[in-house]
Amino acid sequence: MAIKLHDSLTRETRELRPAHADGVFRFYNCGPTVYAAAHIGNFRTFVVNDLLRRLLELEFGATKVKHVRNLTDVDDKTIRRSREEGRPLADVTRQWTEKFHADCAALNCLQPHEEPRAADPKYIREQVSMIEVLMEKGNAYRAADGSVYFKVSSFPGYGALSRVKERELQVGSALKSQAADADEKEDTSDFALWKAHKPEDGDVQWPGPRTASAGRPGWHIECSAMSKAILGDTIDLHTGGVDLLFPHHENEIAQSQCCNGTTFAHHWYHSEHLLVDGKKMSKSLGNLYTLDDLKAKGFSPAALRYALLSGHPRKQLNFTLDSLHAAESALKHLRAFRAQLSERSSGGNDADSDSVFTPIFTALHDDLNTAGAFGALFTIVNKGAANISAAAFDRVLFALGLDLTEPVAPKTDIPADIAALAEKRWAAKQSKDFAAADALRKDLTAAGWTMLDRKDGYSLEPVKK
Ligand code: AMP
Ligand code: ZN
Repeated sequence: MAIKLHDSLTRETRELRPAHADGVFRFYNCGPTVYAAAHIGNFRTFVVNDLLRRLLELEFGATKVKHVRNLTDVDDKTIRRSREEGRPLADVTRQWTEKFHADCAALNCLQPHEEPRAADPKYIREQVSMIEVLMEKGNAYRAADGSVYFKVSSFPGYGALSRVKERELQVGSALKSQAADADEKEDTSDFALWKAHKPEDGDVQWPGPRTASAGRPGWHIECSAMSKAILGDTIDLHTGGVDLLFPHHENEIAQSQCCNGTTFAHHWYHSEHLLVDGKKMSKSLGNLYTLDDLKAKGFSPAALRYALLSGHPRKQLNFTLDSLHAAESALKHLRAFRAQLSERSSGGNDADSDSVFTPIFTALHDDLNTAGAFGALFTIVNKGAANISAAAFDRVLFALGLDLTEPVAPKTDIPADIAALAEKRWAAKQSKDFAAADALRKDLTAAGWTMLDRKDGYSLEPVKK
Protein backbone atom coordinates (compact mmCIF):
# COMPACT_ATOMS: atom_id res chain seq x y z
CA MET A 1 0.00 0.00 0.00
CA ALA A 2 1.83 3.12 -1.23
CA ILE A 3 2.30 6.12 1.04
CA LYS A 4 0.69 9.21 -0.44
CA LEU A 5 1.73 12.59 0.86
CA HIS A 6 0.91 16.17 0.01
CA ASP A 7 3.75 17.82 -1.91
CA SER A 8 4.06 21.54 -1.11
CA LEU A 9 5.81 22.23 -4.44
CA THR A 10 3.29 20.72 -6.86
CA ARG A 11 0.42 21.07 -4.36
CA GLU A 12 -0.61 17.53 -5.21
CA THR A 13 -0.86 14.44 -3.07
CA ARG A 14 1.74 12.10 -4.57
CA GLU A 15 3.18 8.67 -3.87
CA LEU A 16 6.51 8.48 -2.09
CA ARG A 17 9.09 6.39 -3.96
CA PRO A 18 12.87 6.11 -3.81
CA ALA A 19 14.29 7.58 -7.03
CA HIS A 20 17.79 6.09 -6.78
CA ALA A 21 18.64 2.67 -8.23
CA ASP A 22 19.81 1.43 -4.79
CA GLY A 23 16.22 1.66 -3.56
CA VAL A 24 17.22 3.73 -0.53
CA PHE A 25 14.69 6.43 0.34
CA ARG A 26 16.57 9.66 1.13
CA PHE A 27 14.78 11.76 3.73
CA TYR A 28 15.98 15.11 5.13
CA ASN A 29 14.13 16.81 7.99
CA CYS A 30 15.22 20.29 9.14
CA GLY A 31 16.20 19.97 12.79
CA PRO A 32 16.16 22.24 15.84
CA THR A 33 18.16 25.32 16.74
CA VAL A 34 19.89 24.27 19.96
CA TYR A 35 19.88 27.30 22.27
CA ALA A 36 17.00 26.39 24.66
CA ALA A 37 14.63 23.49 25.26
CA ALA A 38 12.49 22.78 22.19
CA HIS A 39 8.82 23.61 22.84
CA ILE A 40 5.87 21.32 22.19
CA GLY A 41 5.19 23.07 18.84
CA ASN A 42 8.65 22.04 17.66
CA PHE A 43 7.88 18.55 18.90
CA ARG A 44 4.67 18.41 16.91
CA THR A 45 6.82 18.76 13.80
CA PHE A 46 9.40 16.22 15.00
CA VAL A 47 6.78 13.67 16.09
CA VAL A 48 4.97 13.96 12.73
CA ASN A 49 8.31 13.40 10.99
CA ASP A 50 8.96 10.41 13.23
CA LEU A 51 5.62 8.94 12.14
CA LEU A 52 6.69 9.46 8.53
CA ARG A 53 10.03 7.74 9.21
CA ARG A 54 8.22 4.73 10.76
CA LEU A 55 5.80 4.43 7.83
CA LEU A 56 8.69 4.65 5.37
CA GLU A 57 10.50 1.85 7.23
CA LEU A 58 7.40 -0.34 7.16
CA GLU A 59 6.94 0.39 3.45
CA PHE A 60 10.50 0.11 2.10
CA GLY A 61 12.29 -1.85 4.86
CA ALA A 62 14.29 -0.53 7.79
CA THR A 63 17.60 -0.64 5.91
CA LYS A 64 16.15 1.14 2.88
CA VAL A 65 15.45 4.47 4.56
CA LYS A 66 18.11 7.06 5.27
CA HIS A 67 16.85 9.76 7.60
CA VAL A 68 18.96 12.87 8.22
CA ARG A 69 18.07 15.64 10.65
CA ASN A 70 20.47 18.52 11.25
CA LEU A 71 21.30 20.55 14.34
CA THR A 72 21.56 24.32 13.90
CA ASP A 73 24.34 25.03 16.38
CA VAL A 74 25.58 28.35 15.03
CA ASP A 75 23.28 31.29 14.27
CA ASP A 76 22.22 34.59 15.84
CA LYS A 77 20.20 32.93 18.63
CA THR A 78 22.83 30.42 19.72
CA ILE A 79 25.56 33.07 19.65
CA ARG A 80 23.42 35.53 21.62
CA ARG A 81 22.72 32.87 24.25
CA SER A 82 26.40 32.03 24.61
CA ARG A 83 27.25 35.72 25.01
CA GLU A 84 24.50 36.29 27.59
CA GLU A 85 25.66 33.32 29.64
CA GLY A 86 29.38 33.99 29.23
CA ARG A 87 29.93 30.42 28.06
CA PRO A 88 31.57 29.05 24.92
CA LEU A 89 29.09 28.47 22.07
CA ALA A 90 29.95 24.76 21.98
CA ASP A 91 29.02 24.37 25.68
CA VAL A 92 25.63 25.99 25.18
CA THR A 93 24.76 23.99 22.08
CA ARG A 94 26.01 20.72 23.62
CA GLN A 95 23.77 21.26 26.64
CA TRP A 96 20.65 21.87 24.53
CA THR A 97 21.49 19.10 22.08
CA GLU A 98 21.56 16.67 25.01
CA LYS A 99 18.26 18.01 26.25
CA PHE A 100 16.74 17.68 22.78
CA HIS A 101 17.92 14.06 22.57
CA ALA A 102 16.48 13.26 25.99
CA ASP A 103 13.10 14.78 25.04
CA CYS A 104 13.05 12.96 21.68
CA ALA A 105 13.76 9.67 23.45
CA ALA A 106 10.99 10.34 25.98
CA LEU A 107 8.61 11.01 23.08
CA ASN A 108 9.69 7.69 21.53
CA CYS A 109 11.14 9.27 18.39
CA LEU A 110 13.57 7.09 16.45
CA GLN A 111 17.01 8.59 16.10
CA PRO A 112 17.82 9.88 12.63
CA HIS A 113 20.57 7.86 10.92
CA GLU A 114 22.73 10.95 10.80
CA GLU A 115 22.53 14.21 12.68
CA PRO A 116 25.06 16.66 11.19
CA ARG A 117 25.90 19.91 13.01
CA ALA A 118 26.35 23.16 11.10
CA ALA A 119 29.41 24.16 13.19
CA ASP A 120 31.18 20.81 12.76
CA PRO A 121 34.47 21.73 10.96
CA LYS A 122 33.76 19.02 8.39
CA TYR A 123 30.44 20.63 7.47
CA ILE A 124 31.81 24.16 7.65
CA ARG A 125 34.15 23.01 4.84
CA GLU A 126 31.20 21.60 2.87
CA GLN A 127 29.31 24.89 3.25
CA VAL A 128 32.35 26.95 2.23
CA SER A 129 32.96 24.83 -0.86
CA MET A 130 29.32 25.07 -1.91
CA ILE A 131 29.48 28.87 -1.57
CA GLU A 132 32.66 28.87 -3.67
CA VAL A 133 30.90 26.98 -6.46
CA LEU A 134 28.02 29.48 -6.33
CA MET A 135 30.50 32.38 -6.53
CA GLU A 136 32.28 30.77 -9.49
CA LYS A 137 29.03 30.22 -11.32
CA GLY A 138 27.92 33.82 -10.80
CA ASN A 139 25.06 32.97 -8.43
CA ALA A 140 26.73 34.64 -5.45
CA TYR A 141 28.80 37.72 -4.82
CA ARG A 142 31.03 39.19 -2.15
CA ALA A 143 29.60 42.32 -0.50
CA ALA A 144 31.68 45.29 0.67
CA ASP A 145 31.91 43.98 4.26
CA GLY A 146 33.28 40.58 3.19
CA SER A 147 29.95 38.71 3.49
CA VAL A 148 28.65 36.63 0.57
CA TYR A 149 25.10 36.89 -0.77
CA PHE A 150 23.06 34.72 -3.08
CA LYS A 151 21.86 36.67 -6.10
CA VAL A 152 18.18 35.77 -6.28
CA SER A 153 17.77 37.20 -9.80
CA SER A 154 20.28 34.59 -11.06
CA PHE A 155 17.84 31.75 -10.40
CA PRO A 156 14.71 31.95 -12.55
CA GLY A 157 12.99 29.22 -10.55
CA TYR A 158 13.03 31.32 -7.36
CA GLY A 159 9.65 31.44 -5.66
CA ALA A 160 8.21 28.21 -7.11
CA LEU A 161 7.78 26.55 -3.70
CA SER A 162 6.29 29.45 -1.76
CA ARG A 163 4.77 31.24 -4.78
CA VAL A 164 6.52 34.25 -3.30
CA LYS A 165 6.40 36.21 -6.56
CA GLU A 166 2.63 35.82 -6.73
CA ARG A 167 2.45 36.85 -3.11
CA GLU A 168 4.68 39.82 -3.88
CA LEU A 169 2.14 41.00 -6.44
CA GLN A 170 -0.66 40.53 -3.95
CA VAL A 171 0.79 41.95 -0.78
CA GLY A 172 3.59 44.16 -2.00
CA SER A 173 6.70 43.23 -0.15
CA ALA A 174 6.96 39.63 0.97
CA LEU A 175 10.50 39.44 -0.39
CA LYS A 176 11.56 42.36 1.77
CA SER A 177 11.27 40.05 4.76
CA GLN A 178 14.84 39.01 4.03
CA ALA A 179 15.93 42.63 3.97
CA ALA A 180 18.20 42.63 7.06
CA ASP A 181 21.66 44.07 6.28
CA ALA A 182 20.08 45.59 3.17
CA ASP A 183 22.78 48.18 2.53
CA GLU A 184 25.40 45.49 1.90
CA LYS A 185 23.29 43.78 -0.74
CA GLU A 186 22.78 44.45 -4.43
CA ASP A 187 19.10 43.65 -4.09
CA THR A 188 16.86 43.46 -1.02
CA SER A 189 15.69 39.94 -1.93
CA ASP A 190 19.26 38.54 -1.89
CA PHE A 191 20.13 36.48 1.16
CA ALA A 192 23.32 35.75 3.10
CA LEU A 193 25.36 32.63 2.37
CA TRP A 194 28.26 33.77 4.53
CA LYS A 195 28.24 36.43 7.26
CA ALA A 196 31.44 38.39 7.82
CA HIS A 197 32.55 38.37 11.46
CA LYS A 198 31.10 41.09 13.72
CA PRO A 199 32.39 42.01 17.19
CA GLU A 200 29.28 40.49 18.83
CA ASP A 201 30.17 37.10 17.30
CA GLY A 202 33.08 36.88 19.76
CA ASP A 203 35.41 34.03 18.87
CA VAL A 204 32.88 32.32 16.59
CA GLN A 205 34.48 32.45 13.14
CA TRP A 206 36.04 30.35 10.40
CA PRO A 207 38.05 31.27 7.30
CA GLY A 208 35.62 32.34 4.59
CA PRO A 209 35.10 31.21 0.99
CA ARG A 210 37.62 32.64 -1.51
CA THR A 211 37.85 36.42 -1.19
CA ALA A 212 35.27 36.66 1.60
CA SER A 213 36.18 37.62 5.17
CA ALA A 214 36.38 35.23 8.08
CA GLY A 215 32.94 34.69 9.56
CA ARG A 216 30.21 32.08 9.76
CA PRO A 217 27.72 30.44 7.41
CA GLY A 218 24.24 31.87 6.85
CA TRP A 219 21.45 29.61 8.07
CA HIS A 220 20.07 28.28 4.77
CA ILE A 221 23.34 26.97 3.35
CA GLU A 222 23.80 24.40 6.13
CA CYS A 223 20.88 22.25 4.97
CA SER A 224 21.88 22.43 1.30
CA ALA A 225 25.47 21.46 2.11
CA MET A 226 24.77 18.75 4.69
CA SER A 227 22.02 17.17 2.61
CA LYS A 228 24.38 17.05 -0.40
CA ALA A 229 27.29 15.68 1.63
CA ILE A 230 25.28 12.86 3.21
CA LEU A 231 22.43 12.08 0.81
CA GLY A 232 23.72 13.33 -2.54
CA ASP A 233 22.55 16.02 -4.97
CA THR A 234 18.96 14.79 -5.22
CA ILE A 235 16.88 13.53 -2.32
CA ASP A 236 13.46 11.93 -2.16
CA LEU A 237 11.82 13.99 0.58
CA HIS A 238 12.55 17.23 2.43
CA THR A 239 10.39 18.30 5.36
CA GLY A 240 9.85 20.87 8.09
CA GLY A 241 7.19 23.03 9.72
CA VAL A 242 5.23 25.51 7.54
CA ASP A 243 7.27 28.47 8.71
CA LEU A 244 10.29 26.96 6.90
CA LEU A 245 8.61 27.09 3.50
CA PHE A 246 9.72 30.68 3.02
CA PRO A 247 12.45 31.78 3.04
CA HIS A 248 14.39 28.75 4.32
CA HIS A 249 13.31 26.07 1.88
CA GLU A 250 12.95 28.45 -1.04
CA ASN A 251 16.56 29.50 -0.46
CA GLU A 252 17.74 25.90 -0.06
CA ILE A 253 16.28 25.06 -3.49
CA ALA A 254 18.00 28.08 -5.07
CA GLN A 255 21.41 27.25 -3.54
CA SER A 256 21.29 23.50 -4.23
CA GLN A 257 19.93 23.67 -7.76
CA CYS A 258 22.32 26.43 -8.86
CA CYS A 259 25.27 24.56 -7.35
CA ASN A 260 24.38 21.03 -8.46
CA GLY A 261 22.48 21.74 -11.68
CA THR A 262 19.82 19.20 -10.83
CA THR A 263 16.57 18.73 -8.87
CA PHE A 264 17.16 19.12 -5.12
CA ALA A 265 14.18 17.26 -3.64
CA HIS A 266 11.49 15.23 -5.38
CA HIS A 267 8.97 15.87 -2.65
CA TRP A 268 8.41 18.69 -0.12
CA TYR A 269 6.25 18.27 2.95
CA HIS A 270 5.31 20.89 5.55
CA SER A 271 3.29 20.20 8.65
CA GLU A 272 1.19 22.90 10.28
CA HIS A 273 1.79 24.66 13.55
CA LEU A 274 0.60 23.88 17.02
CA LEU A 275 -1.42 26.60 18.73
CA VAL A 276 -1.96 26.75 22.47
CA ASP A 277 -5.41 27.75 23.69
CA GLY A 278 -6.07 29.07 20.19
CA LYS A 279 -3.04 31.38 20.13
CA LYS A 280 0.47 31.31 18.73
CA MET A 281 2.83 30.11 21.44
CA SER A 282 5.00 32.81 22.92
CA LYS A 283 6.88 33.47 26.12
CA SER A 284 5.16 36.82 26.60
CA LEU A 285 1.69 35.21 26.44
CA GLY A 286 2.84 32.65 29.02
CA ASN A 287 1.52 29.80 26.86
CA LEU A 288 4.83 28.27 25.80
CA TYR A 289 5.23 24.73 27.09
CA THR A 290 8.19 22.40 27.09
CA LEU A 291 7.98 18.68 27.76
CA ASP A 292 9.34 19.33 31.27
CA ASP A 293 6.54 21.81 31.99
CA LEU A 294 3.98 19.12 31.16
CA LYS A 295 5.84 16.42 33.11
CA ALA A 296 5.81 18.76 36.10
CA LYS A 297 2.01 18.88 35.77
CA GLY A 298 2.00 15.06 35.95
CA PHE A 299 1.47 14.22 32.26
CA SER A 300 3.43 11.48 30.52
CA PRO A 301 5.49 12.03 27.35
CA ALA A 302 3.41 9.28 25.69
CA ALA A 303 0.27 11.38 26.27
CA LEU A 304 1.95 14.38 24.65
CA ARG A 305 2.94 12.26 21.65
CA TYR A 306 -0.62 11.01 21.37
CA ALA A 307 -2.07 14.53 21.62
CA LEU A 308 0.40 15.90 19.06
CA LEU A 309 -0.59 13.19 16.58
CA SER A 310 -4.32 13.41 17.19
CA GLY A 311 -5.03 16.19 14.67
CA HIS A 312 -4.36 16.12 10.93
CA PRO A 313 -0.73 17.25 10.52
CA ARG A 314 -1.60 19.66 7.73
CA LYS A 315 -4.13 21.49 9.87
CA GLN A 316 -3.29 23.73 12.77
CA LEU A 317 -3.77 21.87 16.03
CA ASN A 318 -5.06 23.61 19.13
CA PHE A 319 -3.30 22.23 22.19
CA THR A 320 -5.06 22.30 25.56
CA LEU A 321 -4.35 20.55 28.84
CA ASP A 322 -7.72 18.84 28.34
CA SER A 323 -6.36 17.19 25.21
CA LEU A 324 -3.65 15.64 27.41
CA HIS A 325 -6.22 14.30 29.87
CA ALA A 326 -8.06 12.77 26.91
CA ALA A 327 -4.78 11.30 25.62
CA GLU A 328 -3.97 9.73 29.02
CA SER A 329 -7.37 8.07 29.06
CA ALA A 330 -7.02 6.85 25.44
CA LEU A 331 -3.63 5.32 26.35
CA LYS A 332 -5.20 3.58 29.33
CA HIS A 333 -7.76 1.93 27.02
CA LEU A 334 -5.02 0.87 24.63
CA ARG A 335 -3.00 -0.58 27.52
CA ALA A 336 -5.98 -2.61 28.71
CA PHE A 337 -6.61 -3.85 25.15
CA ARG A 338 -2.96 -4.86 24.72
CA ALA A 339 -3.06 -6.72 28.04
CA GLN A 340 -6.11 -8.69 26.85
CA LEU A 341 -4.24 -9.68 23.69
CA SER A 342 -1.32 -11.03 25.76
CA GLU A 343 -3.66 -13.05 27.94
CA ARG A 344 -5.30 -14.72 24.93
CA SER A 345 -2.32 -16.54 23.51
CA SER A 346 -4.68 -18.14 20.97
CA GLY A 347 -5.62 -14.76 19.42
CA GLY A 348 -6.28 -14.74 15.66
CA ASN A 349 -3.62 -15.42 13.06
CA ASP A 350 -1.35 -12.63 11.91
CA ALA A 351 -2.61 -12.21 8.36
CA ASP A 352 -6.27 -11.98 9.40
CA SER A 353 -5.38 -9.59 12.21
CA ASP A 354 -3.37 -7.41 9.86
CA SER A 355 -6.44 -7.05 7.70
CA VAL A 356 -8.44 -5.94 10.76
CA PHE A 357 -5.98 -3.07 11.12
CA THR A 358 -5.90 -2.16 7.42
CA PRO A 359 -8.17 0.90 7.86
CA ILE A 360 -5.56 2.41 10.20
CA PHE A 361 -2.77 2.08 7.62
CA THR A 362 -5.09 3.21 4.84
CA ALA A 363 -5.67 6.44 6.76
CA LEU A 364 -1.99 6.95 7.59
CA HIS A 365 -0.95 6.29 3.99
CA ASP A 366 -3.49 8.84 2.81
CA ASP A 367 -1.48 12.00 3.52
CA LEU A 368 -0.87 11.05 7.17
CA ASN A 369 -4.49 11.17 8.20
CA THR A 370 -3.70 10.55 11.86
CA ALA A 371 -7.13 11.69 13.04
CA GLY A 372 -8.73 9.06 10.78
CA ALA A 373 -6.22 6.45 11.96
CA PHE A 374 -7.01 7.03 15.65
CA GLY A 375 -10.73 6.88 14.82
CA ALA A 376 -10.25 3.52 13.07
CA LEU A 377 -8.08 2.29 15.95
CA PHE A 378 -10.78 2.95 18.53
CA THR A 379 -13.49 1.42 16.36
CA ILE A 380 -11.44 -1.80 16.51
CA VAL A 381 -10.54 -1.50 20.19
CA ASN A 382 -14.16 -0.88 21.15
CA LYS A 383 -15.22 -4.06 19.36
CA GLY A 384 -12.96 -6.11 21.68
CA ALA A 385 -9.94 -8.33 21.36
CA ALA A 386 -11.42 -11.50 19.84
CA ASN A 387 -9.40 -12.99 16.94
CA ILE A 388 -6.69 -10.39 16.95
CA SER A 389 -3.02 -11.28 17.32
CA ALA A 390 -0.79 -9.24 19.60
CA ALA A 391 1.91 -9.11 16.90
CA ALA A 392 -0.44 -7.37 14.46
CA PHE A 393 -1.46 -4.83 17.09
CA ASP A 394 2.20 -4.22 17.90
CA ARG A 395 2.82 -3.27 14.26
CA VAL A 396 0.16 -0.58 14.64
CA LEU A 397 1.79 0.60 17.87
CA PHE A 398 5.19 0.70 16.14
CA ALA A 399 3.80 2.78 13.27
CA LEU A 400 2.28 5.32 15.65
CA GLY A 401 5.26 5.13 17.99
CA LEU A 402 2.99 4.51 20.96
CA ASP A 403 4.83 3.02 23.90
CA LEU A 404 2.25 1.50 26.23
CA THR A 405 4.52 0.73 29.18
CA GLU A 406 3.14 2.32 32.32
CA PRO A 407 4.51 5.81 32.91
CA VAL A 408 6.90 5.96 35.85
CA ALA A 409 6.47 8.80 38.29
CA PRO A 410 9.19 11.40 37.76
CA LYS A 411 12.07 10.98 40.21
CA THR A 412 12.55 13.86 42.58
CA ASP A 413 15.20 12.38 44.86
CA ILE A 414 17.89 14.98 44.30
CA PRO A 415 20.46 14.90 47.13
CA ALA A 416 20.40 17.97 49.38
CA ASP A 417 24.02 18.95 48.68
CA ILE A 418 23.34 18.87 44.92
CA ALA A 419 20.19 20.96 45.34
CA ALA A 420 22.20 23.48 47.37
CA LEU A 421 24.95 23.67 44.72
CA ALA A 422 22.30 24.23 42.05
CA GLU A 423 20.68 27.03 44.06
CA LYS A 424 24.07 28.66 44.52
CA ARG A 425 24.79 28.46 40.79
CA TRP A 426 21.37 29.88 39.92
CA ALA A 427 21.96 32.81 42.27
CA ALA A 428 25.40 33.42 40.73
CA LYS A 429 23.88 33.41 37.27
CA GLN A 430 21.10 35.78 38.31
CA SER A 431 23.68 38.20 39.65
CA LYS A 432 25.60 37.80 36.36
CA ASP A 433 28.63 36.26 38.05
CA PHE A 434 29.16 33.95 35.10
CA ALA A 435 32.61 32.79 36.14
CA ALA A 436 31.26 31.50 39.45
CA ALA A 437 28.19 30.04 37.73
CA ASP A 438 30.43 28.21 35.28
CA ALA A 439 32.63 26.81 38.04
CA LEU A 440 29.55 25.61 39.94
CA ARG A 441 28.20 23.93 36.80
CA LYS A 442 31.48 22.04 36.54
CA ASP A 443 31.16 20.95 40.19
CA LEU A 444 27.64 19.71 39.49
CA THR A 445 28.76 17.81 36.41
CA ALA A 446 31.62 16.25 38.37
CA ALA A 447 29.07 15.16 40.98
CA GLY A 448 27.01 13.51 38.22
CA TRP A 449 24.28 16.11 37.63
CA THR A 450 23.37 18.25 34.64
CA MET A 451 21.70 21.57 35.31
CA LEU A 452 19.26 22.60 32.58
CA ASP A 453 18.59 26.31 32.48
CA ARG A 454 15.38 27.99 31.50
CA LYS A 455 14.65 31.68 31.50
CA ASP A 456 12.65 31.47 34.69
CA GLY A 457 14.28 28.54 36.49
CA TYR A 458 16.14 25.27 36.05
CA SER A 459 15.90 21.54 36.45
CA LEU A 460 18.42 18.87 37.38
CA GLU A 461 19.03 15.57 35.62
CA PRO A 462 21.58 12.83 36.21
CA VAL A 463 24.45 13.08 33.69
CA LYS A 464 23.85 10.66 30.82
CA LYS A 465 26.42 7.90 30.66
P1 AMP B 1 13.57 25.76 15.15
O1 AMP B 1 14.22 25.10 16.32
O2 AMP B 1 13.02 27.09 15.43
O3 AMP B 1 14.49 25.76 13.96
O4 AMP B 1 12.30 24.87 14.77
C1 AMP B 1 12.33 23.47 14.66
C2 AMP B 1 11.09 22.97 13.91
O5 AMP B 1 9.90 23.28 14.64
C3 AMP B 1 10.90 23.58 12.52
O6 AMP B 1 10.55 22.54 11.60
C4 AMP B 1 9.75 24.55 12.70
O7 AMP B 1 9.02 24.69 11.51
C5 AMP B 1 8.93 23.84 13.75
N1 AMP B 1 8.03 24.73 14.55
C6 AMP B 1 8.29 25.93 15.09
N2 AMP B 1 7.21 26.41 15.78
C7 AMP B 1 6.23 25.48 15.66
C8 AMP B 1 4.88 25.35 16.12
N3 AMP B 1 4.30 26.29 16.87
N4 AMP B 1 4.18 24.24 15.78
C9 AMP B 1 4.75 23.26 15.03
N5 AMP B 1 6.02 23.31 14.57
C10 AMP B 1 6.76 24.39 14.86
ZN1 ZN C 1 16.86 23.37 6.98
